[in-house]
Amino acid sequence: MIDGQTKLFGIIGKPVTHSMSPAMHNGAFAHLGINGVYVPMEPGNLEQGFYGLQALGFIGVSVTVPFKVEIMAYLDRIDPVAQKIGAVNTLHFDRSHPEKVICTGYNTDWMGSNQALADEMTLQGSRVLVLGAGGAARAVGFGLIEAGAEVIITNRTVSKGEDLANQLGCAFLPVEELATLEADALVNTTSVGMHPNEHGIPIQENLLEKFAVVMDIVYAPLQTRLLREAAARGCRTVDGLKMLQYQGAAQFTLWTDVPAPNATMREALLGELQARSL
Ligand code: NAP
Repeated sequence: MIDGQTKLFGIIGKPVTHSMSPAMHNGAFAHLGINGVYVPMEPGNLEQGFYGLQALGFIGVSVTVPFKVEIMAYLDRIDPVAQKIGAVNTLHFDRSHPEKVICTGYNTDWMGSNQALADEMTLQGSRVLVLGAGGAARAVGFGLIEAGAEVIITNRTVSKGEDLANQLGCAFLPVEELATLEADALVNTTSVGMHPNEHGIPIQENLLEKFAVVMDIVYAPLQTRLLREAAARGCRTVDGLKMLQYQGAAQFTLWTDVPAPNATMREALLGELQARSL
C-alpha cells in the first residue's frame, strides 16, 4: 500500500521496460514489510532526471545502460572500486544531513559476480578466465582482482581485450590460444547464448572440462547452452541470475541497512523469467 510514508526507489535507463529489478526489489520490500516502492524510469535528459530524483526524495536508484558512466559527473561521492571500474550502477541519496542531500555512487555488479562465483569456489588465489571485454567484463574483472584472483581476459576483438587487460593489469590470451590455458574457473561475460540466439556458445565445448567452475552472466535463458555443456562435462555451474540477484541484494542493503532476503529476490526473478517465457 503506497501512502505518505512510502520510501522511493527505482531504476533509470533507456530502455527500462525489460528490467527485472522492480520485481526483485518490490518482492523484497513486500517480504520484509518495508513501506517502499521501486519504479522504472526513463529520463529524457539525465541531468534533469538526476536532480529530479534528488529533489523528490528518492533514497536509492539503480542505474543501467546507457547511463552508468555519464551519471558519475553528477555525484557527490564515488565508491573507490566503482571509480576504478569507471561505472556506477547504484545511487544512494543520504538525507540525514539537514543542509544537503549527499549522493554516493557504487558499483554492485562486481559484488554480485564475486558472490555468485564464491558460492562455488574460493576466489583468493584462484585463476579465472573471463570471456569478453565489454562493460560487464570490466566489473567482473575488477571484482575478481579485488578478491585476490588471477584474471586472464580473452575477447573476439583483440584490441578491446588487450585494452581491458592492460587496465586490469592482467594477461590477455587470444581465442586461438585458449587450449593452452589451465584455469580454475571460466566466466562468460559476452552476450553469446542469450535469447533469442540460444544455440550460441562462447567457447569450444571440448575446452570446458579444464574448468572446475563455469559461470555464465547471461540469464535468459537461465540454463544457457554453455552451462548445459559444462554440466555435462562435470563442471560446477553458476547461472547469470545469481549475479543479478546478488548485485541487487548489495543495493538493497546499501539502501535499507537490512540484510537482503536472497531467496525471495531469486524467486521474484525466476517468476519474471517464467512470465516472459525465457
Ligand atoms: P557489451 O559492453 O556490449 O559487451 C559485449 C561483449 O560480448 C564484448 O566483449 C563482445 O565482444 C562480446 N560479443 C558480443 N557478441 C559476440 C559474438 N557473437 N562472439 C563473440 N563475442 C561477442 O555488453 P555488456 O554490458 O558487457 O553485457 C554482456 C552480457 O552480460 C549481456 O548479455 C548482458 O545481458 C549480460 N549482463 C548480465 C548481468 C547480470 O547481472 N547477470 C549484468 C550485466 C550484463 P567484442 O568486443 O568483440 O564486440
